[in-house]
Amino acid sequence: MIKEEVKIVEVGPRDGLQNEKVILPIETKIELIDLLVDAGFKTIEPTSFVRPEYIPQMADSKTLFSSILKHEDIVFPALVPNKKGFLNSLDAGAKWIAIFTATSNTFNKKNTNATIDESLKRFDEFVPDAIKEGQTVRGYISTVFGCPYEGETSIDEMLRLCEKLISFGVNEISLGDTIGVANPNQVQVIIQRLKEHFDLSMMAMHFHDTEGMALANILASYQEGIRIFDSSVAGLGGCPYAKGASGNVASDDVINMFHKMNIKTGIDQDKLHKASRFILKALGKEGSSKFFQANEGRKS
Ligand code: MG
Repeated sequence: MIKEEVKIVEVGPRDGLQNEKVILPIETKIELIDLLVDAGFKTIEPTSFVRPEYIPQMADSKTLFSSILKHEDIVFPALVPNKKGFLNSLDAGAKWIAIFTATSNTFNKKNTNATIDESLKRFDEFVPDAIKEGQTVRGYISTVFGCPYEGETSIDEMLRLCEKLISFGVNEISLGDTIGVANPNQVQVIIQRLKEHFDLSMMAMHFHDTEGMALANILASYQEGIRIFDSSVAGLGGCPYAKGASGNVASDDVINMFHKMNIKTGIDQDKLHKASRFILKALGKEGSSKFFQANEGRKS
């Protein structure tokens, strides 16, 4: 039976803000997360435990964490690149972490200074400990639909990495269209291959709207059985590989599409609109969500 309900993983506070030039005060980030919780999101990627000299937008991760832990029933997967990040996440009280690799060696080297296999070796240095400490682990695989350096990437490599991540004990895998080049036919082919080997209920799709095809790709994924989608409030986060282009698909647009299709997301659209308006004002920008803009126009 088709489950007429989807889970939306809100990645704006981390994946979104990390790719915005403006560095926001911690109070603004906390207020954004509070507004997102109020809108009904149950999983929110809040921050990452990375070196501040690399990602200054996330330098306040420990303090941020201590403030958001008040939301006891919310899952907050914090991104960690290595053992140091894991230890810091543990210290901050994170119950969920997210680890990341890619299907392209060139991309992974530029992003994490490690080949794919080196990144797997890094996971081995801390993921078993994380699980022993009671943390739940989400895995990201980037460049599944294409790489800015290598072009087309291998489906077999994606399957190998899913297998590896599962062997580490991750409980959800998010497959990323890092540069927003996927199309619905490709999505269908990839999910059909996934289904041959894995339980789709643990698979999430992470689309970018760089070429305006994110919703089409989400619909194709839904039709193939995917029920978890990553998106970013107000479409926060640009695309580092295409100046001026959209990055993460906007939660506002994804949720609007599902609600119009009578598919539940658990999100209150008016409250989400409030969160979007708040963060866009703080950043001083218009955002990329078609639905937000239409709604804002109707309201004014
Ligand atoms: Mg993203």
